[in-house]
Amino acid sequence: MRFYTISVNNTEMTAVLGPSGEPVTLESLGVKVRDMNDLIRRYDEVKDRIVRGLEKDCVPVTEPYRILAPVPVPEQDLVCLGVNYREHILETSNGIQFDKKNDTVYFSKRANRCNDPDGVIPFYDFVDSLDYEVELGVIIGRDAFGVSAEEALDYVFGYTIINDVSARNIQRKHGQWYLGKSLDGYTPMGPCIVTKDEIGDIHRLQISCHVNGEERQNSSTGMMITPVEEAIAELSEGMTLKAGTIIATGTPGGVGMGTNPPRYLKPGDTVCCEISGIGKLTNTLEKK
Ligand code: MG
Repeated sequence: MRFYTISVNNTEMTAVLGPSGEPVTLESLGVKVRDMNDLIRRYDEVKDRIVRGLEKDCVPVTEPYRILAPVPVPEQDLVCLGVNYREHILETSNGIQFDKKNDTVYFSKRANRCNDPDGVIPFYDFVDSLDYEVELGVIIGRDAFGVSAEEALDYVFGYTIINDVSARNIQRKHGQWYLGKSLDGYTPMGPCIVTKDEIGDIHRLQISCHVNGEERQNSSTGMMITPVEEAIAELSEGMTLKAGTIIATGTPGGVGMGTNPPRYLKPGDTVCCEISGIGKLTNTLEKK
């Protein structure tokens, strides 16, 4: 299934894609959830009712609606993987040769509120090197502790697209990535969460990013150095990954800082992040 958070008459509603290709609110199926986080936690309990509801005479939303980030307000900071695609290591490492797999880099990113799939990314005047990073987002569905790689995907609810927008000068200034990636509006997400049973092989998804229509990133999730299963196993070895945890799994090569000279984003630019089987995020930049 494909789950959405939509805004109808300024009210946020959790919805599922119906057979007509339009979203059907869970409320109209008799399934009451507070929001996407609540659905994720209670999915095992309500899944059958949603499936049965979609098989009957479900009525899609008839009023105008807007698609929001599927998890508008994450309960915790996002867990991110750094330099997790081989060609991105080469472009960010100033020529350092990696002849063996290094330990995975984990860091975090705050999103007080995720940006919407068509939202505006603010261009703050103190940022002079704003960059894009298309990433596969993993949404944990059940509390995971001490989970092996073999069973890791059983703990996943579904997958989405994240643009890990990054202010490179803020990253460099503070010697750490957290602040430069956590500014308001820097986490576009969506357009939906595709459940794990529907997405197929998560290591065969095409992942790309275009700026003003020009291809900048284009790879396959099969090029990840630490695949999703290994990341969940490693992270959960001594830290509970709670249901609703969002993991951003790293970006392929082609980011703005990777070219010489760098090609950063400017006000007015349109960034389109796409992953096959999930959809697209199309965000524009506006001076703040
Ligand atoms: Mg990233």
